[in-house]
Amino acid sequence: MSTSTNTLLTQPDANGHFGTYGGMFVPETLMAALTELTEEYLRAKSDPDFQGELARLLREYVGRPTPLTFAERWTEHLGGARIYLKREDLLHTGAHKINNALGQILLAKRLGKNRIIAETGAGQHGVATATVCAKFGFECTVYMGKVDMERQALNVARMKFLGAKVVPVTAGQATLKEAVNEAMRDWVTNVRGTHYILGSALGSHPFPMIVRDFHRVIGEEARRQILEREERLPDVLVACVGGGSNSIGLFHPFLDDKEVRMIGVEAGGEGIVHGRHAARFAGGKLGVLQGTKTWLLADADGQIELTHSVSAGLDYPAIGPEHAYLHDLGRTEYVYATDDEALDAFQEVSRMEGIIPALESSHAFAHVKKLAPTMAKDAIIIAGCSGRGDKDVAQAARIVFGEEFVG
Ligand SMILES: *Cc1c(COP(=O)(O)O)cnc(C)c1O
Repeated sequence: MSTSTNTLLTQPDANGHFGTYGGMFVPETLMAALTELTEEYLRAKSDPDFQGELARLLREYVGRPTPLTFAERWTEHLGGARIYLKREDLLHTGAHKINNALGQILLAKRLGKNRIIAETGAGQHGVATATVCAKFGFECTVYMGKVDMERQALNVARMKFLGAKVVPVTAGQATLKEAVNEAMRDWVTNVRGTHYILGSALGSHPFPMIVRDFHRVIGEEARRQILEREERLPDVLVACVGGGSNSIGLFHPFLDDKEVRMIGVEAGGEGIVHGRHAARFAGGKLGVLQGTKTWLLADADGQIELTHSVSAGLDYPAIGPEHAYLHDLGRTEYVYATDDEALDAFQEVSRMEGIIPALESSHAFAHVKKLAPTMAKDAIIIAGCSGRGDKDVAQAARIVFGEEFVG
């Protein structure tokens, strides 16, 4: 990591601040655990044995490196920039989340903690966490909103087969935000022997930094692969942004490459109407939620607003603090795609590339559909394919083929 003063790579500062964002807004009882986690992580980061074991498992168990696929027919169809897809959908368990879950379980091992807790929305992070717990023989409890458990029954079953206990959360909207509250409550009570594997580049310091670092491999590989294939850097990176982990993982290794534009795509839901979307930069404001100071969706009294997206993985009221910082600096840009636009891109990429993407990733592709035709034919876009769409097929079929569809 460079130490020059004009680099963005050295964030956050020692107190977990990305500019004015981030920090540690947690109950006093968690401060010791977070400090211990920070110190152990920084030791692990510079420990060749830790990094060697992580790299070996990413290769042998998770399936890295993932390919950078040239989307030939889609490029031709859109008639502009050359489009490459970074294929996190090909990873074990079907999405990028396993990069972070694996890194954090190795950290939990170093910390001597034998019980793991996690929260999950769509269930992808819960499955990734249950997977690494099975692999390493850890006890695993996953908190999940009751509404999400009904919507994502397949992932609930996967977690149970993997040996995890899935705890339904019924408070509030009974989705991801409430599941995070419940996981935090468990952690406060059981912090001594328990590690909380947080699932996105969110929450209190050091989580946004740790989660980002474990996903940087996405951007490091993409940078190397595009230089090999095209002998130059891309013009634009595009990735979907829920909490912001797959996007920061792709973007971060390119931050000092001034000529590379970076675009994060949030969930526009049914349009920018209160309660019907999750586009924090389009309809949000500065606030504090679940450990961190960042951009979020709240009403005039500061109460967190309801959110909506066709994709459960983007349906969260706050964005990771590093994105808020990069947004203010103008280094990254944020747009949104609606449910309909994402469903359209989901179908187009499936038909033209033989890749059924996750509905989350389809938000990024919806923006590529708008952007690529406006660019020169020798321009290059890399779009993050954060996960595969198998989990979304039944839902998409009901919307596209009609309620009578039997999956
Ligand atoms: C969870 C998830 C996301 C959103 O989370 P980020 O932390 O913003 O990456 C995006 N894509 C897929 C496939 C997911 O499972």
